[in-house]
Amino acid sequence: MGLSREQIAEAMRGVGAFPSGKDVVAAGQFIWSTASEGHVLVKLEPAGTPSDADLDRIASDTRRVLDAASREKGGGLASLTIEFVDKSGSITAKRRFGSPMQSSTQSSTAQPQPSSAGHAPIPGLRPQTTSTGPSGIPGVSRVIAVGAGKGGVGKSTVALNLAVGLARRGHSVGLLDGDIYGPSMPTMLALDSLEAMAREGMLQPFLVHGIKCMTIGKLVDADKPLIWRGPMAHGAFKQLSEQTQWGELDYLIIDLPPGTGDVALTMAQQLKLTGAVVVCTPQKVAQDDAARAAKMFQQLNVHVLGVVENMSFFVGDDGKVYDIFGRGGAEHMAQRLGLPFLGSIPITMALRANSDKGDPTANFEGKDDAGKRLKAALENVVTQVENQVALTSISQAGPSLTIR
Ligand code: ADP
Repeated sequence: MGLSREQIAEAMRGVGAFPSGKDVVAAGQFIWSTASEGHVLVKLEPAGTPSDADLDRIASDTRRVLDAASREKGGGLASLTIEFVDKSGSITAKRRFGSPMQSSTQSSTAQPQPSSAGHAPIPGLRPQTTSTGPSGIPGVSRVIAVGAGKGGVGKSTVALNLAVGLARRGHSVGLLDGDIYGPSMPTMLALDSLEAMAREGMLQPFLVHGIKCMTIGKLVDADKPLIWRGPMAHGAFKQLSEQTQWGELDYLIIDLPPGTGDVALTMAQQLKLTGAVVVCTPQKVAQDDAARAAKMFQQLNVHVLGVVENMSFFVGDDGKVYDIFGRGGAEHMAQRLGLPFLGSIPITMALRANSDKGDPTANFEGKDDAGKRLKAALENVVTQVENQVALTSISQAGPSLTIR
């Protein structure tokens, strides 16, 4: 059992702040933390200009208190990463203890380089093998693709929160960031300080917020544009999905690239999908694009689990609701196409902020009125998806793709 967010915050009261005599929590310098299976990441904002020695002292105190707290819970600290940030949230220094990934003496850093052969091999990974199992990926029971007619409607946001929400219900969940042209997960899951590792020829997923995540964004140089042509993109996606050591998963959620172009289409064909979720905002123009995405899945014989309406309405921090985009538009579209409606997610400042700082768990904490509405909306989407998947398994004996 790992430490909960509350237990980390409690333990951090044992770390003295810089430069004041208070502890880091009382001084408001403990910004946030995330933990998964003994791997802990803590963000701190010391005041003034601490020296390296000051940061070392804070880091070793943090290690001491968190190690003691984990031992008290009967576990140990597998790794600890401490990020020191300034007022703007930029990381100014880092300290690390232990491996940031699943600990292994055989680990190596994976560095894929797109080759000129029209394919992007990831060196050190074992050759692609023929997969077995209902999803085509060994150990993975269900694969759900999240697609959208166009970018910016919140597809990645829905994919991530669906994954985290399912994990909070006790499912084992993986998230594959398939948006290879603009991967969002390094930011949305705060993977900055973690390194991609390969072990025995398989990529090790990042263990964060109770899910396992893999993203091309951590395998290529983040500052270089990803100018990949079609076949290279498909090759990289295939490797990411099949050569990540997912282990046993109840759900693998795939964040597809936006649109109905060649890349999204081929990716949707590469795996045996249990179903697809289409994300749409309420406006008419968005509905038309989303309808095209739904039809793309149907033409590929992929079962459309339903439509999520994102940015349905705006909820201020005071809980007041503003109907900005014409709430209900996506629900009507779903009705028109005979598709299940999986719920509406409001626009909230917190959802955007939590995505930017990589803390999706906070979306499920419901601290104020807006937060409560957001939590309820996300949990409703998770329930609807679970229900639709259950219906699918009753009505279909192993969905498969037939178009090549
Ligand atoms: P897409 O994957 O469709 O391109 P993203 O999920 O990356 O879209 O979302 C685009 C931006 O909008 C992100 O900054 C995200 O945090 C923000 N966002 C998405 N949905 C919401 C929402 N319901 N409320 C507030 N911000 C949102």
